[in-house]
Amino acid sequence: MAKIKEKTLKKLKRKSFWPSIVLFLSFVVVSVFIVTVGINLFAAYIIGAKLTGLYNQAMDTGIMIERFVQRGDNITNAVNYVNRYSRVPTDVYVTDAEGNRIVSTGGSMPLLDEKVNWTVGVDNYIAYMDSEWDYGTEALGDIESMFDFHIPELVDRVFDGPPRGNKGRKNVHDQWMGASIMEQPCWMYVPMHLNGKRLYVKCNLQIQRQDFFYILALGSAALVLLLIPLVFLFINTILNIRMQRRVTKVLYMDPETGGNNWLYFQRYAAKMLGSGWNSRKTYAIVDLHMERYTNYLSCYGSKQGEELLECMDGFLRARMRRKEVFGHYGKADFGLILQCEGGNEEECKTDCYRRLRSLLAELAGLQPERKLHFHAGVCMILPVNATDGNWYQKRKNIDIDQLFSFANTAQDAGHNEAEQIFFFSDRLLEEQSWEQWVENNMQNALAAGEFQVYLQPKYSPTDKRLVGAEALVRWNCPEKGIIPPGRFIPLFEENGFIMKLDDYMLSQIAKLQAEWKVQGKKSVPISVNISRAHFTQEGLAEHISQLVDSYGPKHGLIELEVTESAFFDDKNVLIDTVKQLRAYGFPISMDDFGAGYSSLNSLKDIPLDVLKLDGEFFRGEDEMGRGSIIVRETITLARELNMRVVAEGIEQREQVDFLASLGCDMIQGYYFAKPMPVAEFEARMAADA
Ligand code: C2E
Ligand code: CA
Ligand code: CA
Repeated sequence: MAKIKEKTLKKLKRKSFWPSIVLFLSFVVVSVFIVTVGINLFAAYIIGAKLTGLYNQAMDTGIMIERFVQRGDNITNAVNYVNRYSRVPTDVYVTDAEGNRIVSTGGSMPLLDEKVNWTVGVDNYIAYMDSEWDYGTEALGDIESMFDFHIPELVDRVFDGPPRGNKGRKNVHDQWMGASIMEQPCWMYVPMHLNGKRLYVKCNLQIQRQDFFYILALGSAALVLLLIPLVFLFINTILNIRMQRRVTKVLYMDPETGGNNWLYFQRYAAKMLGSGWNSRKTYAIVDLHMERYTNYLSCYGSKQGEELLECMDGFLRARMRRKEVFGHYGKADFGLILQCEGGNEEECKTDCYRRLRSLLAELAGLQPERKLHFHAGVCMILPVNATDGNWYQKRKNIDIDQLFSFANTAQDAGHNEAEQIFFFSDRLLEEQSWEQWVENNMQNALAAGEFQVYLQPKYSPTDKRLVGAEALVRWNCPEKGIIPPGRFIPLFEENGFIMKLDDYMLSQIAKLQAEWKVQGKKSVPISVNISRAHFTQEGLAEHISQLVDSYGPKHGLIELEVTESAFFDDKNVLIDTVKQLRAYGFPISMDDFGAGYSSLNSLKDIPLDVLKLDGEFFRGEDEMGRGSIIVRETITLARELNMRVVAEGIEQREQVDFLASLGCDMIQGYYFAKPMPVAEFEARMAADA
């Protein structure tokens, strides 16, 4: 599930709106570039054409002066003639080869130090700035005149102006368009043969209103052309962003709570914890679990269940602080990241504990008509130790799933406890890795025969003879040595592997009994533990009978021990199965009687053969006081119900004597013997015969 979402997210990222934005922005940049370059080129073209015209005029003046000079006139006279007879009088400036003035007309002169090179196409024009030209103020004035439209006047003339006819109207228009809006006087160098003299002709570069309008029209047309795709691109980008937002919202929405889902939690929790700013803060990752949610669903239906989750989501949303995240996990769990205040780990834990306690109390009263039960597992996330003054050091390798699994382990570990809040610890981690190891190795261990049968003898307290035994399993692991059953039986009961193990033990004992019979050895009844998990299995009695029969020993030699706790499950099924097993001839004993809750009632309902008194009766300070009264009364009770009694965990001689005096049938305990391998037991049995 998470993988599919991860993939979808990656695809989404790939299709994200960034390419559209980048495309849009690049298009804007390219458009601006094209328009600017286009306008510049066009402006350069217009100016180039004007320069060529001006240069040609200057050349005409130059040619005339050259002719006069070639005719024999001196340069001053030549200049004066040309100026006098020229259609348009032109200012001229002549110097010798060193740049010293020889003759000049007009008020101004070229600034020979301020040379400008203009290249238009293949032609190169050399020009000089004018000595009297003040570019700044003139240009400003011209720019003002550029916008000097006199629109009302024009409109009057065009629509209802004086009756001048079409020609008159055209003239007004041409005059207006032809008006100069920018002027740049300059001096052009004209290369003529003037006996080593240099000739400069003053030109006036004019930008007319029409030039400006041509450029404006071209720029506008280009802009409009580029604007159309630009608008499309813009709309597309906006739509893309909106679409993306909607998809992300759906992706992060939990279908049951309507709030944040687990993917959201994973992403944002990792992002928040991983940021450098938050690395010096202490956080707690919490698995908030509602108990018996499935019961709630069966009682009130799935719709109400969803409403409850929705309500929890709303409640949590209101209680979370800034920079805290939560999300729905699985059925009735929420993951939370809480920020904890405090100077050290203990203070932070206390802060977290207090906050969770009030959260859980409020949650319990979420529905006024019924009380809800919650508990929470917590894993602390401590601040990063900044080294080398690197305060911005980030939390590395944050695995939210792993951290949450720690919180979940803590929550799980305290499942049956009265306390509501549990903190994850190294001990829990060890337990967790041990559980993992057991799960990974149990199948192979069974196949490899690593589970071994140990037998603990049962003795008669009166004549001290060996009268029976209990089969107890040991895991003889080549890697870890002998592992006692307490380390793995509870796990097997949880994961169901106990069924296989009990079958294995039963078959080993059936085989052993059959071998003893074949070998003509003395044999005693051996009891085998049958876990309560078996009683959910249909046809259990038949199954056990078939298993034993495949080796062929007498059923009476195999006693089945059922723990007292099994009697609290489905009593009717248990009674039926016990009856069937007894009908097959297997003696049944109630194990651990007196440990946990006393079940005198079950003695009434269930027909049993043996009662095993729990070792706890004989331990503690008052073992021979009040405990002895209970033992005595229980033995009397059992005898009256036609049951034999086995006392377990007997370690002292006085206990043996006491039990003998009460008429206890058998004693199993370290006083006589510890559980031992089969060969050792066989030797002991042979010695006892
Ligand atoms: P249990 O059935 O009550 O077995 C008796 C336990 O008490 C055994 O522990 C035994 O070694 C111990 N014991 C016997 N006499 C004394 C004594 O004088 N002092 C003390 N302190 N202890 C004594 P063990 O072998 O460690 O087994 C623990 C439990 O594991 C068993 O309790 C039983 O519930 C379970 N178990 C062992 N083997 C199997 C099996 O093959 N199948 C199932 N389902 N459970 C098993
Ligand atoms: Ca037992
Ligand atoms: Ca027992």
